[in-house]
Amino acid sequence: MACESVTVVGAGLAGSECAFQLSRMGVPVRLREMKPHQRSPAHRSDGLAELVCSNSFRSDNPENAIGLLHFELRDLGSLILKCADQSRVPAGDALAVDREKFSQAVTLALKHGSGRNSTFTTRSPRSSLRTRLISPSLFDRADTARAAATIT
Ligand SMILES: Cc1cc2nc3c(=O)[nH]c(=O)nc-3n(C[C@H](O)[C@H](O)[C@H](O)COP(=O)(O)OP(=O)(O)OC[C@H]3O[C@@H](n4cnc5c(N)ncnc54)[C@H](O)[C@@H]3O)c2cc1C
Repeated sequence: MACESVTVVGAGLAGSECAFQLSRMGVPVRLREMKPHQRSPAHRSDGLAELVCSNSFRSDNPENAIGLLHFELRDLGSLILKCADQSRVPAGDALAVDREKFSQAVTLALKHGSGRNSTFTTRSPRSSLRTRLISPSLFDRADTARAAATIT
């Protein structure tokens, strides 16, 4: 099916994975994230894929349903699972992560790994206009701040 582009709203866990997979398939993606300009009451950081609650993705034992799902997601090339493995911390047979390293890994993967097919945008709190950031290194904080500052 031909597809010109897809806009994904929100770079949480779901949006980040979605944007990454679409980009991998060659679909141009616009990933829109309201942070760092605006945060929900649950969010505390400016990173993508922020874990707002537990740092555990539950059991990583393939003999139960959750653990098996982890292995299937790894086989399918899940960004979230790859970054979780990179930022894993000891927690028995659970897949627990250092939440800051995890968020950084997802942010970096989206910044460098899918830049060719993706555009990341951010929204100014003072305007309904949306700022389109146009370099592959768009998620650079300084770029984001500069772009937002041009809209008043
Ligand atoms: C207190 C609390 C406890 C929780 N406990 C658990 C738990 O134990 N286990 C569990 O599985 N889940 C738990 N959750 C749910 C958890 O938030 C989700 O599992 C997970 O974060 C959902 O991921 P998501 O990508 O759908 O949404 P989120 O992680 O919330 O990501 C949404 C993203 O979209 C952005 N965004 C929102 N609106 C806009 C907009 N209009 N424009 C641009 N960007 C936007 C936000 O800034 C954010 O980055 C809990 C949530 C809360 C608040």
